[in-house]
Amino acid sequence: MMQRDQGRAAARVRSERLSRTLVLDLLAERQAPMGAYALRDALIARLGRSVSPYSVYRIIRALEGEGRLRRVESSRGWMCADPATAGDLMLLCTGCRAIQPVSSPFEAGRLLDLGRAHGFARMRLVLEVMGLCVTCQAARASGR
Ligand SMILES: [Zn+2]
Repeated sequence: MMQRDQGRAAARVRSERLSRTLVLDLLAERQAPMGAYALRDALIARLGRSVSPYSVYRIIRALEGEGRLRRVESSRGWMCADPATAGDLMLLCTGCRAIQPVSSPFEAGRLLDLGRAHGFARMRLVLEVMGLCVTCQAARASGR
C-alpha cells in the first residue's frame, strides 16, 4: 500500500514536471501570452489526457514564483520570462504583439503608496505600456 502511494506520488511529480515543461514550450512556440484555459486545452491536446484547471493554475503559480512566467494583464494571459532579465514594466506592441519587459526608471512602489494613501488594500501593480515597436514603425513608414 505504502509503495503504491509512493509510486502514485512519484508519477504525479513526473507528470507535473512534464506539464511544466510543456507549458513553457507551448508559450515559447506561440510567442504570445496564453490564458489558463487556452493553456489547458493545449496541454490536453499534447498529453492526450484530461488536465484539471486546478493543475494548470498550480503550474502557472509555480512557474511565476520561479520568475519563468509572467502575467500580461492586458492580454489576460501569461508569457515566458527570463528570471535574469525580468523588468517591472512591459512594453506591448499593438502592431505585432511583441512584448518587451524593461525596468522602469521610477520607483514603482511609490504608486502603491499612492493607493494606500487613498485607502486601497490588497493592491496589485500592473505596469504595461502599449504602442508601436521600432520594427512596426519602420514597416509602416516604408508602406509595408
Ligand atoms: Zn511591433
